Amino acid sequence: MSKNGTVIIGAGQAGYQVAAQLRVKGYAASITLIGDEAHIPYQQPPLSKAYLKGELQGDRLPFRPETFYGDKDIDLRLNERVEHIDPAAKTVTTAKGSTQSYDHLVIATGGTPRKIPVPAPLQAKTFTLKTRDDADALGEALQGAQSIAIVGAGFIGLEVAATAAQAGKAVTVYEMQDRILARVASPAVSTALQARHRAAGVDLRLNEGVDLDALEADVVLLGIGGVAVQDLAETGGLTCDGGIVVDAHMRTSDPAIFAAGDCAKSPTPFWDAPIRLESVQNAIDQANLIAEQIAGNAEAKAYHAVPWFWSDQYEVKYQLAGLIPQRTDLVQAGEGTDGLAIYHFRDGALVACETLGNGAEHMSARRLLEQGSAPVSQTDLKEHGTLKAVFKSRR
Ligand SMILES: Cc1cc2nc3c(=O)[nH]c(=O)nc-3n(C[C@H](O)[C@H](O)[C@H](O)COP(=O)(O)OP(=O)(O)OC[C@H]3O[C@@H](n4cnc5c(N)ncnc54)[C@H](O)[C@@H]3O)c2cc1C
Repeated sequence: MSKNGTVIIGAGQAGYQVAAQLRVKGYAASITLIGDEAHIPYQQPPLSKAYLKGELQGDRLPFRPETFYGDKDIDLRLNERVEHIDPAAKTVTTAKGSTQSYDHLVIATGGTPRKIPVPAPLQAKTFTLKTRDDADALGEALQGAQSIAIVGAGFIGLEVAATAAQAGKAVTVYEMQDRILARVASPAVSTALQARHRAAGVDLRLNEGVDLDALEADVVLLGIGGVAVQDLAETGGLTCDGGIVVDAHMRTSDPAIFAAGDCAKSPTPFWDAPIRLESVQNAIDQANLIAEQIAGNAEAKAYHAVPWFWSDQYEVKYQLAGLIPQRTDLVQAGEGTDGLAIYHFRDGALVACETLGNGAEHMSARRLLEQGSAPVSQTDLKEHGTLKAVFKSRR
C-alpha cells in the first residue's frame, strides 16, 4: 500500500476523472485533489452554450454533488493554488503554505486562453472564456449590452457568437483567416457554418485583423486559442514543449508524475507527432489510463483512444472523429448544416470524419477508427454515399 497516496493538481475535467476512477478501480490509498477555483469540479462545455444562454442553471454544472468527495474519501481542496512541485522530495506546496507528500502526482492544470495586450480603456469590457467565473462575468456584461465584438472565429468564439445572436445582440466576429475554423475544420464545414451565422445576423468579418482601440462594441471577447498551463512542470524540471511532454502512458519525464488533459502533449496513434488536444474525450480517456496504472495495472495498454470532439452552434452540432492531417483525400456526402459528412482519407485509410447534424455517421466513423484498420475505401464511400450504407451493403 502506498504511504502518501496520490496528489492531483487541477480539479477540472481530467483531475476529477482521475480521482473518481481511482476509487472505481479500488485504489485504497489517500487521494488529494487540489484546485485553485472556488467551485467543485464542473463541466466547461456548457459555459459558452446552455449556461451562458441561461438555459442550464449553475447547479447542473458540477460532475458530482459535493457529498461525493466525502463519500469517496477524496480530499478536495478548493481555492488552493499549487505553487511549487519538488520531484526529488516528492512534495507539492500550495500558496497557503501547506506541503503534501505523494507517491504519485498527476498534473491536470488545463489550458488558459491566449491573451493579447488590451488598451486600458477597454479592459473593463474585454473578456476571455475558460472558467465558470469567466462565464458569469461575460454573461453579466452581456445582459446590459447591445453589441459584442468577438476576436477569433474558433469554436469558443463561434459558440458565444451563436449564443449572443440568439439573445438578440448585435454580433461581429473578426477573423484574420479567409474562413471561420480555418485551422481546425474543412472548407465545406466553414462554408456551411458561415451561412448559418450570417442567417442569424452575425457580421462575420473574414480576412480582417482587429484594432482593439477602434472597437465600439459594448463587450469584447478574445477567442484566440489557448496555451497549456505548464509553469509548475517547468519549474519542477519536467520536460515541456508547448505542453507537458508525456509518453504513451501519460508519464512525464519523472516516472512518478503523470499529466493529462489540456496541459499534456502526448503521442497518439492518430497523429504523426505528439500533440496537445483540448477536448472532453481526451481529458477523460487520458485520466482513465492514469488511474488504471496508479491503481496497479502495470500492463496497461498505451494510449490509443480515438480522438473526438463536438461543438454546438444554434441547432447545429459539429462532430469530429479522428484528427485531420494537413493533406487528405476528401469524400463529401450531403451539404449544409443538416447532414453534411466529410471523410478524410490518407494513404487509402479513413483517418477522420467531420459531420454537421449527422450523429449517426459520426458514431459509425468512431467505431471504424476504433477497429484500428479502416476497411472502408474511398471507392466504397463514393459508391454508397455514407459509412452506414457501406456497412448495410455488406450485411
Ligand atoms: C467554454 C468552453 C467550451 C468548451 N466546449 C467543448 C466542447 O463542446 N466539446 C469538447 O470536447 N470540449 C470542449 N471544451 C474543452 C474541454 O472543456 C477541456 O478540454 C477540458 O475541460 C480539459 O480538461 P482539463 O482537466 O485538462 O482542464 P480544465 O478542465 O481546464 O481543468 C484544469 C483546472 O486546473 C486548475 N489549475 C490550474 N493550475 C493550477 C494550480 N497551480 N493549482 C491548482 N489548480 C490549478 C484550473 O483552474 C482548472 O480548474 C470547452 C472548453 C471551454 C472553456
